[in-house]
Amino acid sequence: MSTLPWPVPSALDASTQAFPVLSTAQINRLRPCGKLRRVEPGEILFQPDDTGVPFFVLLSGGMEIVQPDLTGERPIVTHGPGQFTGEITMISGQRCLVRGRVTQAGEFLEISPDGLRSIVAKDAELSEIFMRAFILRRLALISRGLGNVILLGSRHCANTLRLREFLSRNAHPYNYIDLDTDKTSQELLDRFEVKTSEVPVVICNGHTVLKNPTTQQLADCLGFNVNIDSSQVRDLIIVGAGPSGLAAAVYGASEGLDTLVIENEAPGGQAGSSSKIENYLGFPTGVSGQELSSRAIAQAQKFGAKMMVGHSVVRLDCKRRPYHVVLDNGSTIAARAVVISTGAQYNKPPIANLKQFEGQGIYYGATYIESQLCESEDVVVVGGGNSAGQAAVFLSQTARKVYMLVRREGLSETMSRYLIQRITDNPAIELHTQTEITALEGDRRLERVTWRDKATGETSTHDVRHVFIMAGASPRTGWLQGCVALDDKGFILTGRDLEAPGIGATQKWPLSRSPLMLETTLPSVFAVGDVRSGNVKRVASAVGEGAIAVHLVHRALAEP
Ligand SMILES: Cc1cc2nc3c(=O)[nH]c(=O)nc-3n(C[C@H](O)[C@H](O)[C@H](O)COP(=O)(O)OP(=O)(O)OC[C@H]3O[C@@H](n4cnc5c(N)ncnc54)[C@H](O)[C@@H]3O)c2cc1C
Repeated sequence: MSTLPWPVPSALDASTQAFPVLSTAQINRLRPCGKLRRVEPGEILFQPDDTGVPFFVLLSGGMEIVQPDLTGERPIVTHGPGQFTGEITMISGQRCLVRGRVTQAGEFLEISPDGLRSIVAKDAELSEIFMRAFILRRLALISRGLGNVILLGSRHCANTLRLREFLSRNAHPYNYIDLDTDKTSQELLDRFEVKTSEVPVVICNGHTVLKNPTTQQLADCLGFNVNIDSSQVRDLIIVGAGPSGLAAAVYGASEGLDTLVIENEAPGGQAGSSSKIENYLGFPTGVSGQELSSRAIAQAQKFGAKMMVGHSVVRLDCKRRPYHVVLDNGSTIAARAVVISTGAQYNKPPIANLKQFEGQGIYYGATYIESQLCESEDVVVVGGGNSAGQAAVFLSQTARKVYMLVRREGLSETMSRYLIQRITDNPAIELHTQTEITALEGDRRLERVTWRDKATGETSTHDVRHVFIMAGASPRTGWLQGCVALDDKGFILTGRDLEAPGIGATQKWPLSRSPLMLETTLPSVFAVGDVRSGNVKRVASAVGEGAIAVHLVHRALAEP
C-alpha cells in the first residue's frame, strides 16, 4: 500500500482512488502490453525533466516517488505491489516532474507511453482507474507546491501575477515564494546571483534561472511543448483553447482526427477566468472555469489530442492547401482543416493610467489568486454583465466591501436574474448605477479610485487598491488578416450568413456547394464560439459549436 507523508483530503480517498491497488485480473490484462523488468534497490527509473517515461506496475518489491529540490529531496509517496506509477504527464507527453527510485528489489511490468495510451483507449475500466489516479495525483502535487518550478516574486508586481496565472491555469504545480514576506528568499536570490530588480525569477528544474521571463520562455523551459512535431501535416488544427476549442479537441481526437490545439496563454479561455459557472448543464452546484478546463484538457489528451501552449498563431497562410498557421516564433504548421476558436478579449474602458496599474490593482479576471490579493480590503467591480455579477458575488466572500459600478441605469437588461438577486441581497456589495471611474491614482501600485455618478454629477474618491474590469469583449480576429469574411464588428461570418446580399465583397465563397454551417469563406476552415458572428456568449453554446464543427470537418475532409 502507498504511504503518504501528508494528510490527504478524505474526499480524495487516497488509498482507493489516487493510489489504487490493481487486482490480479486487471494486472493480467496489462501483461501482454509490457515487458517484465527486474529492479534493484537504489535504481532510478525516472527523473524530473525526462520525456517518454514508461509506466510501471509493481508486481513485487517497492519504490518511492520524491521531488528533488534545492535542499535535497521531498518525499511524495511510496508504492507497493499492485500499484502503478505516473500522473498526468503520462498522458500529456510532457516532461516528468518527479524522481522514481526502487526501494525494494522485485519485478515491475514496464509499459511504453504508446502502450499505455492504447490501453486507455481500449480498456474502459483501466482507463477510468488510471485517469482518475493521474488527475488526483496532479491535484495533490499542486496543493503541496510539489513541482519543478520555484517562482520568486512580489504580490505587487504585474509580471508575477501573469506567471502565477499561467502556471495555475496550465495546472502546473509550483512553489511560490513571496519576496514581500519570506525572509529566507534573499539567500535564494544570492545563490543565483539575481538582483531584486530582475524579479520575478523562475527556477526551472532546479538549475535554469529565468529572470522576468515571457510566458513563452517559461513554457519552453518547462518543456510544455516537447511532444509536438511541427513538421507533420495535421488533419485538424484548432486555434484557441477556450471551451469551444477544447470541445473541438475532445471530439476531433476521439473521432480519430490527428488534432493539434494551439493556445496563446493557458487553456480555458474566458471561462477559465470565471470563479463559478452555474448555468452549464450537469453542474447543479456550479463549476469553476479552471476545473472545467482542467477536465477538458485531460479528456482531450486522453484521446490523443496534442496541446501547444504559450504560443500564439500570428497569421493564417490561406493561399495554399493544406493551410499553414504561422506561430509567433516564425515556424509554421500545416493542416487540412482549421477550427478558429480564438474567442474574444477584454474591453478596456478609456480611463487614463489604466495600463500603468494593470496587474498592480487593475485586473481582468477574478479567480482564486486575485481574491487572495485583496482579502479583507475594499474592491471595485466595473461592468453590468454576468461576468461582472459573478465576480462581485465571488469577491464579496473575501473582500471587506465590493463597490459595483455600472454605466447603465440598471442590471436587468444585461445580467441573469439569479445574479441580480444575489447582488441585491448581499450586504457586502454596494451597487452604483450610472457611474463611471474618472481617475486612478497611486505611486507604484493603485491606491485610490475616483468615480462619478452621472445622474447627480457627484464625484467621490475612495482608498481602493483593487479594481476588476469586466466590461465585455471584442473578437480576436486581427491575426486572420483578410483571409475570411468578417461582419462590421470584426466577428467571423459563417454558413448561411455568407450567402446574404453584400457579403463577401473581398472574400468570396469559392466552391459550387454551399458553405456548411460554421464554415467560413475558406473551405474546411470553421469558426466557433465567441469569435463567430451571431454567437451567444455562453459556455454551453461554445462547447456545442466545437462539437458540431468536428462533425463538419469530417464532411469537408471527405470531399475530393
Ligand atoms: C469572467 C467570465 C465569466 C463567465 N461566466 C459565464 C457563465 O457563467 N456561463 C456562461 O455560459 N458563460 C460565461 N462566460 C462566457 C464564456 O466564458 C464564453 O462565452 C466562452 O468562454 C467562449 O468560449 P470560446 O472558446 O469561444 O472563447 P474564449 O473563451 O475567449 O477562448 C479563446 C481562447 O483562444 C486563445 N487565443 C486567442 N487568440 C489566439 C491566437 N492568435 N493564437 C492562439 N490562441 C489564441 C485565447 O488565449 C483563449 O484561451 C463568462 C465569461 C467571463 C469572462
